Parts: sequence; structure tokens; C-alpha cells
Amino acid sequence: MALIVAKFGGTSVASPERIQMVAKRLIAKRQAGHQVVAVVSAMGKTTDELVGLAAALNDNPPAREMDRLLSTGEQVSMTLLAMAIEARGYKAMSFTGRQAGIETDGTHAKAKIVKVHNERIMDALGRGYIPVVAGFQGIDANGDITTLGRGGSDTTAVAVAWGIGADVCEIYSDVDGVYSADPRVAPRARKLSQVSYDDMLELSGAGAGVLQMRAVEFARKWSVVIHSRSAFSDAEGTYIKEDLDMEEAVITGIAHDTSEIKFTVRGVPDVTGVAAKVFSTLAANNVNVDMIIQNTSQDGLADISFTCPGADKRRACETLDRLLPQIAAKEYLLDESIAKVSLVGTGMKSSPGVAAQAFQTLGENKINIIAISTSPIRLSVVVDGAQATAAVRCLHTAFGLDSDSVFEETQLSAEEIAAKMNKGR
Ligand code: ADP
Ligand code: ASP
Ligand code: MG
Repeated sequence: MALIVAKFGGTSVASPERIQMVAKRLIAKRQAGHQVVAVVSAMGKTTDELVGLAAALNDNPPAREMDRLLSTGEQVSMTLLAMAIEARGYKAMSFTGRQAGIETDGTHAKAKIVKVHNERIMDALGRGYIPVVAGFQGIDANGDITTLGRGGSDTTAVAVAWGIGADVCEIYSDVDGVYSADPRVAPRARKLSQVSYDDMLELSGAGAGVLQMRAVEFARKWSVVIHSRSAFSDAEGTYIKEDLDMEEAVITGIAHDTSEIKFTVRGVPDVTGVAAKVFSTLAANNVNVDMIIQNTSQDGLADISFTCPGADKRRACETLDRLLPQIAAKEYLLDESIAKVSLVGTGMKSSPGVAAQAFQTLGENKINIIAISTSPIRLSVVVDGAQATAAVRCLHTAFGLDSDSVFEETQLSAEEIAAKMNKGR
């Protein structure tokens, strides 16, 4: 008998029919003798719709109200799932983040979990219930509802799994595991049977949305084994864990991220301290700068480009509007159509030549590199957004990652697929 946490994402609970499927799966686990705790996301595109509603009323909604609003999505799906389980003759009880004991700091929209109290969940399990926990949310020291960042139900699941000492944290989604690239972008991507925490952390951080980065961080810290698998089939998925049974490849996978934007500040006086002023002011205004490129100075003037999340656009523009006259820079330009493509692999550490091969491949495919950054196990390039798919595919082929089979969509509607493809923006 195993103790299992099973998390179902938005697509998996998008309709009453799909909620029924989830209820059946949970009950099947009980019938097989396991104990199970469910964690759910909001139904389908609910969270996006709630964000849209808020935006229609306030273009800068108060963070506290926003978190309260967004947390309601998961509270709808948790109760419906509990009802569906009860209708099938099994006992179920839903829990909000607070009731499930998820205590966080007070950083609205990206709160960090500081404590997990397991009493209520353990008690419900002991009394024969299937607990159903609302993902994505917690409670801060003031008693206010917080949320854990987009995709945060994954983190709830890992935290609950750790809190109750589960054997495995199963994350069910519309793909049957972690692939060597997003299979919707690179249909020749191959399903990986296992991935180390380090590689998964880099992949998630570089945009592989299949698992939220925070969840992987939490799992690595507390050695929670994640099993990423399909909500629509029983196929074995991908295990994220520490000690892999095989040698790690040079390149584990390729991630892409279209959610960043690029600013170029032109005509910056090339004097000591100006870069410090630009980036300290951006940091003070909560702009999360990722890559920085400084072009050679001409006539004592330089251009400084940087990338940051699209979500920080407004704050970055406001900051630059104020800053430019202070540093006597000419102007700034904004490019919203960029993509970051990253090669990730722990084996990269001991394998020279990855960068050379990547640059050559992109060159041969007429893909211009706008910026480059590296870590010991990651190489990222920024390219024109329109070339993102081509860049992922040609690198995937060049590094020998292509599978013989082609990824086939099984369950999603055309509308759902379109929504997924636009998710990065
Ligand atoms: P959920 O809503 O269930 O949390 P997500 O949409 O967050 O699901 O994550 C699943 C999606 O992640 C897939 O539909 C897929 O397009 C995308 N994805 C991105 N990179 C990868 C990858 N390397 N392997 C598998 N899926 C990926
Ligand atoms: N519903 C939230 C979101 O859409 C959390 C999640 O799905 O994990 O980001
Ligand atoms: Mg997700």
C-alpha cells in the first residue's frame, strides 16, 4: 500500500466529464489499496478569466484582492471533485489552502511556503476520506489568502506530499511526462523516463511549463519524488528524483520561453557607475532582469540591452521613463517578440563544444542570436520570437534528441491546444 498525492491540472478538471474521470482514477487507487490525497487546479482557463475580470475594473489591482479572487478558481474545482467522488459512493472532503495547513509568507502573487501542517489531511485520511486540496494557495501570518505564482498547484502538491510523507507526488497533466522539448513545438521530442532534480530545475526555469520551478525546488530540497504523467492514460510517465539509474546525457532537453521582452537603452554615457544606476533602479522597482548585453561604445556612448519577464513591462517602462533624463541617455526601445531557447544537461559540465555546435546549427538555419547566457548545465540564446519553433527543432535534431515516433495529440480540443500554445505570452 502506498500513500500518494495526485495533482490534476486545469485541463484535467476542465469540465464535469473530466472531473468524473479524475474521481474514477482516485477511486481506482483506493480500490487498489492505496491511500490518496488529491490536489486540484482551477477548471480550464478559469484563472485567466479571473485575471481578465480584474483587469476590466482596475489596471493595477491591489495584490491582496487579486490573490483572494484567484484563489476562488481552485475552490470551485475542489468542491466539485469532492461531490463527484461522493456520488460514486466514496467519502471525500475538500480543503482550501488554509484548511490544508499551507502557511506562506505575505508576498502576494508569489508567496513562499514557510510551513505545512498536516493534521487535518492525516485525520481525514485516517477516517477513510479522500482529501481534495485546492492548489495554488496558502495563508499568511495575517490570515490573508496568498497565491504561489502561476502554475503553483504543482507546488501545493509537492508541499502536501512532503507534509504527509507520501511515497510519491503524481502530477497529472495533458502530456504523459517530461519530454526532451515541448512536444507541441517539437513533435519528434522523446519522453524521458527519468530526470534529475538539477536538470528539471533548469528546464522549468528556462520555460518548460510542464512542472512549476518552485515545485521542483521544493521537491529537491526535501527529496520528494515527482511522477509527471498523463491524466488521460495509464502510461508510465517521467520520474523526477535524485539518484538516476542511468548516466546523464550531455543534453537532457531543450526549453523555450516566449514570455520575456527586451529593452535597449540607447546612447548611454560610457562612464563608471551608469550600469549600476540603471540596474539598481530596475531592481528597486521589482523588475526581474534576466540577460544583459552592452554594446561597444562609440563616441563615448553605449547601448545597454536587457531582458525581463513580460509581466514586468509596465514597471520597466515607468522606471526607464524616469531614469533616462537622470543618466542623460538618448532613448529606449522595446522588443516584445523574442524567445529564449535553452539547452539543458548536467552532462554539459564535462563536455566541451556544446556552445560551438549550437551556434553553428543556428547559423546554418539562418537564425540570428540576439543574446547568450550560460550556467554550468545550461546554454541559453535569445532569438527572434518568430524563429523560436525553428530554433528548438533544429537544435533538437542537431543534438541527436529526435525520437523515431511523432507526438500525437489525444484528448484536447483544437481550442485547448491553441490556448496552450499562447500560454507563454
Ligand atoms: P497543467 O495545466 O495540467 O498544470 P501545464 O499546461 O502547466 O499543465 O503543463 C503541461 C504542458 O507543458 C504541456 O501541454 C506541454 O505543451 C508543456 N510543456 C512544455 N515543455 C514541456 C516538456 N519538456 N515536456 C512536456 N510538456 C512540456
Ligand atoms: N490555476 C493557477 C494557474 O492557472 C494555478 C495552477 O493551475 O497551477 O496558474
Ligand atoms: Mg501546470
